[in-house]
Amino acid sequence: MNPIPLQHIVIVGGGSAGWMAANLLAHHWSPRGVRITLLESSEIGIIGVGEGSTPYLRQFFSRLNISEAEWMPACNASYKCGIRFPNWSKVAGYETYMHPFFNQADLALGNEFFRNACLRRRGADADANPQDFFLAAELARQRRAPHYRPRPDGQDSPATDYAYHFDAGLLGQFLRSHALKLGVRHLIGTVQQVQQTESGDIQTLRLADGSNLDGDLFIDCSGFRGLLINQTLGEPFLSFADNLFNDRAIAIPTALPEGEDIPSETVSSALKHGWAWQIPLSHRYGNGYVYASSFVCDDEAERELRAFLGPAAEGQTARRLQMRVGRVAQHWRNNCLALGLSQGFIEPLEATALMLIQFTVELFMAEMERGQFGREHQAPFNRRINQMFEGVRDYVLTHYQLNTRDDSEYWRENRANRKISDRLASILDVWDRGGDFEAELTRHGDDLMYIRPSWYCLLAGMGRFPGQLQAYKASPAPVSRQQAREALAQTAAQFYGHREYLHLLGQR
Ligand SMILES: Cc1cc2nc3c(=O)[nH]c(=O)nc-3n(C[C@H](O)[C@H](O)[C@H](O)COP(=O)(O)OP(=O)(O)OC[C@H]3O[C@@H](n4cnc5c(N)ncnc54)[C@H](O)[C@@H]3O)c2cc1C
Repeated sequence: MNPIPLQHIVIVGGGSAGWMAANLLAHHWSPRGVRITLLESSEIGIIGVGEGSTPYLRQFFSRLNISEAEWMPACNASYKCGIRFPNWSKVAGYETYMHPFFNQADLALGNEFFRNACLRRRGADADANPQDFFLAAELARQRRAPHYRPRPDGQDSPATDYAYHFDAGLLGQFLRSHALKLGVRHLIGTVQQVQQTESGDIQTLRLADGSNLDGDLFIDCSGFRGLLINQTLGEPFLSFADNLFNDRAIAIPTALPEGEDIPSETVSSALKHGWAWQIPLSHRYGNGYVYASSFVCDDEAERELRAFLGPAAEGQTARRLQMRVGRVAQHWRNNCLALGLSQGFIEPLEATALMLIQFTVELFMAEMERGQFGREHQAPFNRRINQMFEGVRDYVLTHYQLNTRDDSEYWRENRANRKISDRLASILDVWDRGGDFEAELTRHGDDLMYIRPSWYCLLAGMGRFPGQLQAYKASPAPVSRQQAREALAQTAAQFYGHREYLHLLGQR
C-alpha cells in the first residue's frame, strides 16, 4: 500500500457533498493516520434539496458498511425503481414512459424490447414503450419494493437494481453523526479570507471569529458560490446554458396521505416551461418545478406548480432556488478539490448530482492510493470528471431535443436548439436514419455516461420513430405490450409491497 501523502484534509461545507466526502475519506484513511476536519457555516445554509439518487448510491452505503435498515428509516427513505416521464411527448402510445433501473429478470423481455424498438425504427408496427417491457416499471405500477420475497425452495432470487429517495436534511444529519463516529472533526465557522502560498496553493482559512485553519488538501464543498475553486483560485466556470436552459427551481413539499401505498418511482412531468418532480418519501412528497427564467417569471412558475399539485399544496411554503448549470474547467487544481455544487451541476432531471460527487471522491482517492498525487496527474483526472459531466449533460439534453410538445416557445426552442455536442448530434442522426445504432453507441464508449438500454429507453420511450408505419411483417411476430405486461405482472407478484418492506426495515 502506498502511504497517503496527506496529513490533514479540510472540507469546507456541510451539505451532502461535504458529509459524503468526510465519510468516505474517514472510513478509508483515518485508520491510515489522515486527519479530517469539516467546517461549515451556521450563517450560510445548505441547499436542502436533492432527494433522489441513482443506483450508484447503493455502493456508497455498502463501502461504509451501512445497511439499509440503519440508514433508510433514519432518513425517511424509500425505494426508487426508475423515473417516469409523463407529457414530454405527444406521440400516441408514448405520452409517458419510464427510464427503469435494470434487473437480472429483464434479460428476456428486455431483448424483446430492443428488437421491437429496432423493428419500429424500420416502420414495423411493434410496441416499443419501455414501460411495458421492464420489471422496474411494473414494480412501480404496483407500488412494490425492488426486493423479492424469500423463495419457498430457499434458492437465491435474481439480482435487482434500484436507487433511493430520501429526506436531504435527514440524510445530512445521518451522515454527520456517522462521520463523527469515524473521527471527523466538525467545526462551525465562516471562512472570511483565504491565504495562499506563492505557488497559489491554499494555506490557511481565516474564519470570521478570528481563528485560522490550516491543512494540506482543501475540499471545496461550499455550494454554488465555489468559495475556494472559483473565488480563491479563479478557476473558470463553463456554463451549459446554451444546451440546458433551466436555471431556476421552486420546491413545495406535500403530505403523503396516511395509509396510502408509497410509490416506488420518481415522476418527472413536463409542464409548460419546464418539468415538475414528485419524489415520494416514506412520510411526504418532495415536489418541485425546474424551469427557465428566460421563458417564465418566478411568480408564474409558482402558480403553475401549485395548479399542478392541486389542493395538496395549499398552505405549503414554496422555496425558490437558482441553479448554476455547468462545470468548472478543472475540479482538482493546486491543493484544492471541488466537489458537489461548487464543481458543477447538471439540472436534476436524472438525479445525478450525488453520483458525480461520489465518483469524484472515489476517483480522487484511487489516484492518491496509487501514489498519483503530483500536478501531472491532475489533467487526466480532470478529463475523466469532465467526460462524466458531459456524458450526463448529453443524456439529459436528449430529453429536451426529443420533446414533441407544442404549447410554448420553451418547448419549441428546446427542440430546435442546435447547440448540442457533435457526439449527441451523431447519435440522433444515426437513430433517425435507421443506421447501426449499436455501432454508434460502441464508438463513443466511455464518453457516454449512460449505457445502451438507457439510450434505447429514452429514444423509443419518447416515441422517436421518424419513419411512417409500413406494412412490415416481422417473423416471429413482435411481443405485444399485453403479452409483456402479463409476464411482468407474474414476476412482480413475487416482490414485497413497498410500504410493507419499509416497515420490515424498521420504518414506523
Ligand atoms: C432544484 C434541485 C434539485 C436537486 N435534485 C437532486 C436530486 O434529485 N438528486 C441529486 O443527487 N442531487 C440533486 N440536486 C443537487 C444536490 O442538492 C446537491 O448536489 C447536494 O445537495 C450537494 O450540495 P453541496 O453540499 O455541494 O452544497 P450545499 O448544500 O449548498 O452546502 C454548502 C455548504 O457550504 C458551506 N459554506 C458556504 N460558504 C461557506 C463559508 N464561507 N464558510 C464556511 N462554510 C461555508 C455552507 O454552510 C454549507 O454547509 C438538486 C439540486 C437542486 C438545485
